[in-house]
Amino acid sequence: MMEETVFVKGVLKMTLSFEQGPIRPPSEAYSLLLRLTRNCPWNKCAFCRTYKGKSFSRRSVEEVKEDIDRVVEVSRLVGEVSQRQGYGGEVNGEVLAKIYESGQSQFYHVAFWLYHGGRTAFLQDANSLIMKTEDLLEIINYLKKRLPTVERITSYARSITLLRKEIGELAELGRAGLSRIHVGLESGSDEVLKFIDKGVTSLQHIDAGRRVKEAGISLSEYVILGMGGQRWAREHPLDTARVLNAINPDFIRLRSLTVVKGTPLHEKMVQGEFIEQSEEDVVRGEKLLIESLRDIQSSIVSDHSLNLLEEVKGKLPVDKSGMLAVIDRFLELTGRDKENFILGKRWGMYRVLDDMADSSRHARVQEAVDRLSRQGSFLDTISSLKNQII
Ligand code: SF4
Repeated sequence: MMEETVFVKGVLKMTLSFEQGPIRPPSEAYSLLLRLTRNCPWNKCAFCRTYKGKSFSRRSVEEVKEDIDRVVEVSRLVGEVSQRQGYGGEVNGEVLAKIYESGQSQFYHVAFWLYHGGRTAFLQDANSLIMKTEDLLEIINYLKKRLPTVERITSYARSITLLRKEIGELAELGRAGLSRIHVGLESGSDEVLKFIDKGVTSLQHIDAGRRVKEAGISLSEYVILGMGGQRWAREHPLDTARVLNAINPDFIRLRSLTVVKGTPLHEKMVQGEFIEQSEEDVVRGEKLLIESLRDIQSSIVSDHSLNLLEEVKGKLPVDKSGMLAVIDRFLELTGRDKENFILGKRWGMYRVLDDMADSSRHARVQEAVDRLSRQGSFLDTISSLKNQII
């Protein structure tokens, strides 16, 4: 289905569109987003609100292929804008700015993807691996044929779904071009997994992760710091480390829990069934987790601004002591400086611990800490600032 496109004052106005879902991993910021399924087939995890109230559906192979054809056409139009601007088809900052002016988000998305080389694609939404292997293969092959610059194709998948595929099927997907799978491990504790209704056991997480690795596909496992709350403050990091040690994923991606209104977890919290950990205790859990990771070569990635200590990242085992040193540096701060850093980070005044050395920022944050403490609203403010980051 081709639709009319026209240039108005040198800016392309187009009605060509393709379907996209709401989220992608932070590491896929420069990827082309292609929607294979809509929403989440599980949709029960207690902490998650992304797809609540939305029903799951699969898109047909033909629909997805038509979307790929549209991306090809939009890419051609981006080149046309570049030609008209006198850049001979190159997608540079000026071309990107011109397309941004058009206010057409998908046009900009494709231009942004091309600007960054057009090398990666992410298959949405929450669990695209639920599609039949033959359908996935047809889509991946078509994607690579129509968009030959794409070198890396990645997707989210649930462990349970991965267990329903033979290792041979996963390997075939890997050979076709599926380069990386992102799995929401969340926790390695069976009690926590049950409590949050993840629909998977720690053993199943281990089996699924090992299958992905055996199939030769890169594996990212997501861990939520603080997910055990006060009740499973030790079990959560210790069991999570046990599971990660058994998988040895390529990446361990750290997230931090924020309890969002409207989720089952918030309901449990209101009813007193779940008590959040303090920021300091979450960091203590992070320390226990990293200390307990042994004999693996994973890269720890802290690519989410909700993580209090974003500088805790590196490759195991060589960077382990450096990561623990960052954590200890925070834990050894005075109570007053801990509060200063926590508010400054949540407020966006600091990114990393070193930012506290800036005396004017430190003084401004301290003034706010003292005022909020006098009003008795320090913790509420932190919680509301965290909710704004999501
Ligand atoms: S599987 Fe993922 S998207 Fe689905 S409910 Fe759980 S966390 Fe949310």
